[in-house]
Amino acid sequence: MFKCLKCGKCCLNTEMVLTPSDIRRIEKLGYVLEKFAVKSKDGLYKLRNINGHCYFFNKKTTSCRIYDYRPIGCRIYPLILLLDIKVITVDSNCPARSTVTLEDVIEKLPLIARVVEELKLNFDLSKVKIVL
Ligand code: SF4
Repeated sequence: MFKCLKCGKCCLNTEMVLTPSDIRRIEKLGYVLEKFAVKSKDGLYKLRNINGHCYFFNKKTTSCRIYDYRPIGCRIYPLILLLDIKVITVDSNCPARSTVTLEDVIEKLPLIARVVEELKLNFDLSKVKIVL
């Protein structure tokens, strides 16, 4: 079972993609899209970095300011999707990556499916490989 070390490394230099529902949920909190996100060349919104960390990361407490409302991708992490080779794997930057189990992946599959659906990704979950 994944044992998060609460190190906050995953919130540094984030490239986390936001789904439309992430954006709506965060905007409802009063945050302005152009401030907390940047639009990448592929047209997707990603979390904005400020001084090397996510806009929502509180450096003093090493915690997320919107934890209960955080993006789906942050809930899935340290699992990542490698779209080009159709693989679900664990981010090599996570110091607790070795604690991730197949059960963790199975538990997160509904969230992964939601990201795939919301972003209309070409990623058939029935054919994907899981590499831990
Ligand atoms: S939204 Fe929260 S959990 Fe996600 S990268 Fe930003 S600070 Fe970290």
